Amino acid sequence: MNSKVVKALNEQINFELYSAYIYMSMSAYLKALNLPGFAHWMEVQTKEELAHALKIHNYLIERGGEIVFKAIKEPPQKWESPMAAFKHAYDHEQIVTSRFEEIIDLALKEKDHTTNIQMQWFLNEQIEEEANVLSIYQQLKMANNAPQVIFMLDRELAQRVFVDPNAPAANQAN
Ligand code: MG
Repeated sequence: MNSKVVKALNEQINFELYSAYIYMSMSAYLKALNLPGFAHWMEVQTKEELAHALKIHNYLIERGGEIVFKAIKEPPQKWESPMAAFKHAYDHEQIVTSRFEEIIDLALKEKDHTTNIQMQWFLNEQIEEEANVLSIYQQLKMANNAPQVIFMLDRELAQRVFVDPNAPAANQAN
């Protein structure tokens, strides 16, 4: 594999783990606010990020690329409000999207078409990732953190189910 592409994919594994770390921190913050549904939603988000890291990791191994683990950055521990946490999540997912666009640019430049195809899956996944957090952020913003809305939303977010993108059934569905 092209060494620049391998480096970029290793950095993305690290960034997905950092994303998981941020959402796990948000889950703890929301649990401390006695919002178990919000906390559960962030727990599912954490599992998704770990699954993304694993998916890139598995791809690198399949292609014979060297895996290099680096330290994971410390996440923030507190936010001003649930709304601020979801605003942060939305900003973060936009960064993730631009990172995948950069990896695809690099893969095309280095004529690594397989990586391009693999990363298209992630870029496509980002549409949903951004839309999910944006929708919750906008609802919180409209409600201006009103307790009634937060409690109703908490019950709704408790319903989120984790679908493992690395499970064989999920891969067939894609
Ligand atoms: Mg991700």
